[in-house]
Amino acid sequence: MENRYVEEYDKPTAAYYLTLIGGVLGIIAGVVLLFFLIGIWVIIANVMVIVYAQKLMEEPMEHSKWANYIIIFSVLSGLNLLALIGGVLASVYNPPSRSISPQLHLPKSQQPQTRICAQCGTITVEDAYFCPSCGKRYPDYV
Ligand SMILES: [Zn+2]
Repeated sequence: MENRYVEEYDKPTAAYYLTLIGGVLGIIAGVVLLFFLIGIWVIIANVMVIVYAQKLMEEPMEHSKWANYIIIFSVLSGLNLLALIGGVLASVYNPPSRSISPQLHLPKSQQPQTRICAQCGTITVEDAYFCPSCGKRYPDYV
């Protein structure tokens, strides 16, 4: 657990690769099954599985949503077990709050602060010396 914050991005890689491999194997199975009409559906469902595996990596915070889609399509594709396990892993994945939205977890003093010009209402950063709009000098620095 000590290493938890060492890595910049603690992504759901295990879930991703399991789902990805499952999806690729599923597409291959679908191509073989193309002799039958069901093959087209197997391919489509597995493409969806891979699409949602990508979404999982792009938006790990939404992992529950992507996990549901992965599980649904892995079942619909004819019970793709690898993708199904990947989906379950994605479902239980615990996103590291620090790497997802660091600003929300910074101490109050480290968050970017803004101030509003008393004269013209322009919003500037806290450490601005003058209002960029009307040029009014901020009282704190007089
Ligand atoms: Zn101003």
